[in-house]
Amino acid sequence: MLSVSDAQAIILNLVQPLDRQRDTEVVDLLTADSRILATPVTSPLDFPHWDNSAMDGYAVRYEDVQHSTAEQPAILEIVEEIPAGYQPKSTIQPGQAARIFTGAVIPAGADTVVMQEKTRREENRVFILAAPKPQEFVRHKASFYQAGTQLLPAGIKLNASEIAVLAAAQCPQLSVYRRPRVAIFSTGDELVTVEQPLQPGQIVDSNQYALAALVRQSGAEPLILGIVKDDPVALEKVIAHAVAIADIVLSSGGVSVGDYDYIDKILESLKAKIHIRAVQMSPGKPLTVATFPSPQSPVPSPQSPLYFGLPGNPAAVLVTFWRFVLPAIKKLSGITEGWEPVFLKVRSHDELRSNGKRETYLWGKLHLINGVYEFHKAGGSHSSGNLINLAQTNALAVLPVGKTLISPQEEVQVLQLSNG
Ligand code: AMP
Ligand code: MG
Repeated sequence: MLSVSDAQAIILNLVQPLDRQRDTEVVDLLTADSRILATPVTSPLDFPHWDNSAMDGYAVRYEDVQHSTAEQPAILEIVEEIPAGYQPKSTIQPGQAARIFTGAVIPAGADTVVMQEKTRREENRVFILAAPKPQEFVRHKASFYQAGTQLLPAGIKLNASEIAVLAAAQCPQLSVYRRPRVAIFSTGDELVTVEQPLQPGQIVDSNQYALAALVRQSGAEPLILGIVKDDPVALEKVIAHAVAIADIVLSSGGVSVGDYDYIDKILESLKAKIHIRAVQMSPGKPLTVATFPSPQSPVPSPQSPLYFGLPGNPAAVLVTFWRFVLPAIKKLSGITEGWEPVFLKVRSHDELRSNGKRETYLWGKLHLINGVYEFHKAGGSHSSGNLINLAQTNALAVLPVGKTLISPQEEVQVLQLSNG
């Protein structure tokens, strides 16, 4: 059976990122957070825009003050006061200084700022009580960024710090990748919606809600297609529709070996190429990954959509999404790096067990103990059919194939989940 890492490599290989020209839209800077920049940004401005002061104090000529001490201070004539936002008018001559404030422009002639704590003022004269270093407290024009060079590359996620940089560079609007479209449907005769009363034998379609939340958190747009019966005709219709409108299709259920598990057969009848049918992991063994020949799509799609037939069990849906679907959405979204899940090495608080036959994922919580993360396994059943104890978790501990036991205090690899 295919290993988890081989499955991940196959999946990432199948994903073509959105197109830099076609799959973009323009957004206002105020609503651009978490979007992916589609065009590199260059600024015609230097940062800082001009030499400016890093302190409240006095702008001086270093030459004039280099030997100053409290006993033998240099005494300078104050010829101008320069608050922030003001353009200096004078050129500082030998024996002169300008009163200056943080962020204000350094006047011509001056090359150094003396902080006001190292001075004494008497009317329009300032006594310099200690020698500064040459050019001290001057932030030089273009020392942070040079006009015309690349300010931000394409393919990065815009978080607060990038948004601040773009604001400073006066970019009120930006070209970002459109959100990937992810169609979601659930399969099973036993499923009802959250509103429908439960009859004996029925269960609520929780997967649809879990997947919609996961897709939205990933920055993609969920297209909710509802519940589909275990009926080949209905399934074929919804799959053909999903493939035509989405970049990625997620179904849950119907990929195992039961009599009513039709997904793989329908994919084949729709001429899909099936790349993965099962993965050596627990939960999540039955996993179908397929691609379609380019569809006659009403919505232009950059590629043939990627189909994930996820298992039906609720825990398996979440685990396979985090492990395989999220990296695929990230690559598709235009982000140029950091698609793969991040694993941390932490200490396990609890004993962790597996039968050793498949890579095993156990859910739990990372606690900070004296600044060091420790994994606490969720209490209760770790059956893939149990959903209840997944609530309030924020990490998955991973036991590789062949590893049957991790003892308390032993190190374990943990996948940190973004929902905690
Ligand atoms: P299947 O692979 O279709 O046999 O589904 C495996 C298990 O997952 C069965 O016990 C289903 O009842 C359950 N299941 C399937 N789909 C969903 C869903 N959308 N929400 C919650 N549980 C589901
Ligand atoms: Mg089913």
